[in-house]
Amino acid sequence: MYDWLNALPKAELHLHLEGSLEPELLFALAERNKIALPWNDVEALRSAYAFNNLQEFLDLYYAGADVLRTEQDFYDLTWAYLLKCKAQNVIHTEPFFDPQTHTDRGIPFEVVLRGIKQALVDGEKQLGISHGLILSFLRHLSEEEAFKTFEQAMPFRDAFIAVGLDSSEMGHPPRKFQRVFDKARSEDLLTVAHAGEEGPPEYIWEALDLLKIERIDHGVRAIEDERLMQRIIDEQIPLTVCPLSNTKLCVFDDMRQHNILQMLERGVKVTVNSDDPAYFGGYVTENFAALHHSLGMTQEQAKRLAQNSLDARLV
Ligand SMILES: [Zn+2]
Repeated sequence: MYDWLNALPKAELHLHLEGSLEPELLFALAERNKIALPWNDVEALRSAYAFNNLQEFLDLYYAGADVLRTEQDFYDLTWAYLLKCKAQNVIHTEPFFDPQTHTDRGIPFEVVLRGIKQALVDGEKQLGISHGLILSFLRHLSEEEAFKTFEQAMPFRDAFIAVGLDSSEMGHPPRKFQRVFDKARSEDLLTVAHAGEEGPPEYIWEALDLLKIERIDHGVRAIEDERLMQRIIDEQIPLTVCPLSNTKLCVFDDMRQHNILQMLERGVKVTVNSDDPAYFGGYVTENFAALHHSLGMTQEQAKRLAQNSLDARLV
């Protein structure tokens, strides 16, 4: 089944490039940039990947991202991810990058963007993987800081297709970013947002009504609100679901409790994605395989999930 799932043509619509930083590359970049790490070796780092919630993961994630310093580092990070896509027959990807994670520690916006974009362009030419890049704001920071990032991004407007919203969800509702999302839409950018991962269904309503998003990232808590479920089914609003992430971060205690197939059978346009694969134990195929092993996902269901991902592309 793994090989069959791996060969299925897929799109990935929920992937944080910084979250694809594998321990081996993290150590290699630390050495190249002469940065001392708090872990002795790759194994020690991997064993730190046991999280009880989103925040514990984010703390480690931001520490890891500190090894990314030069344009070449961002290129290497993105290229390593694209090679994984190639190996798993991901034919289209719409990754997120978090400029604030880097600009806040003194890395210029253009260093980050140029490295990532060049790798994506090369991936299109050399690997045949098409892409649309999404600039994501960190929601634990202020809207004012998001505006600053947006201004830095504007000279490179053509390099990305949409803006998104990620990082610590609880206490940072979508309405906090309504004005910067309005501004992004006025520049003809599309919008997406993480909502309903740890946060309540109200956050999904806000993301739809105030941020006017095209797609909901995660959204698994929509199932708690029947009126919301009806809307996302009627309007066929895609959900970018990340099963291994959800179990690693204890959104569900166990994969057998995951609601993705239940949503699929109700007619929700759910898709399968890896979120932060280096930290959560696998890329897209591993996420599909986990659904097969724990929930008995059939080949027919897998085909529908993969087709949903191709249909839910923004570009
Ligand atoms: Zn995410």
